[in-house]
Amino acid sequence: MTGLFDLSGKGAIVTGSTRGIGRAIAEALIASGAQVVISSEDAADTARVAAELGMPGVPCDVTDHAALERLVGEGEAALGGLDVLVGNAGITGQPGPFADLDMTDYARVMSINLTAQIVLCNHALPRIARRGGGAAVLISSLSGLRGNGRINAYALSKAGVAQLARNLAVEWGPQNVRVNAISPGFIATELSKPLLENADFMAHRMAMTPLRRPGTPAEVAGAAVFLASSAGAFVTGHNLVVDGGTLITD
Ligand code: NDP
Repeated sequence: MTGLFDLSGKGAIVTGSTRGIGRAIAEALIASGAQVVISSEDAADTARVAAELGMPGVPCDVTDHAALERLVGEGEAALGGLDVLVGNAGITGQPGPFADLDMTDYARVMSINLTAQIVLCNHALPRIARRGGGAAVLISSLSGLRGNGRINAYALSKAGVAQLARNLAVEWGPQNVRVNAISPGFIATELSKPLLENADFMAHRMAMTPLRRPGTPAEVAGAAVFLASSAGAFVTGHNLVVDGGTLITD
């Protein structure tokens, strides 16, 4: 791999990389030449996927802040240097109106989707800066950009992720660390499976999506490679929407 998207010699950590979007991002970074630390909460899954991809694996429950510090430290050591961070691990939480919000579920969604990204960046970005610069890509969601009234804690957490990327971009730009978010629309994965099987939801969602289909994890991965590589060298603080056009449709 040569040219703008070349990541040869670069080291990356991708959280939640055992399946779905995270795994596709890990595979795309590897295809572009990077070494990638595979990580998820489940130690057996992490070891299996790391072996399949021929990469190091470091399991980490992102709600455990000490484990996040270990992930970054051990990941950097395994890679020989950290250039790219992809904060991808996320959960949807329970659907329902704010009036029925379960505060335990709310706290878990916030902890995994938002707080973990802050802690992860606080450990990873100084290391990336010490390499002379690099990039962080934080996975937000279209749900954080639209009103939906269905997955409220999730939408709040994802709106927070996009704002986190903007604030960190300001903080770390002078040290040549770029921080961007990606907001995927409807992507076919295990997380979205319940909706994929809901014919009414799908009919409505596809009618408001110009490309008339769900996206694939690989299509989100393309955006991540762009933002992680020198192809995106002057892009920071951006929230790149990858949604088949759902957001722009009235
Ligand atoms: P999946 O459920 O397929 O994968 C989620 C990944 O995150 C798994 O590897 C899982 O590992 C990991 N994970 C979950 N909780 C934790 C935790 N506490 N600690 C460490 N890892 C954890 O989801 P997707 O691939 O669909 O989603 C990936 C990201 O993309 C999420 O942030 C999601 O919000 C976002 N997104 C997805 C969309 C979609 O339509 N699919 C749309 C917009 C955004 P484990 O099994 O070990 O817990």
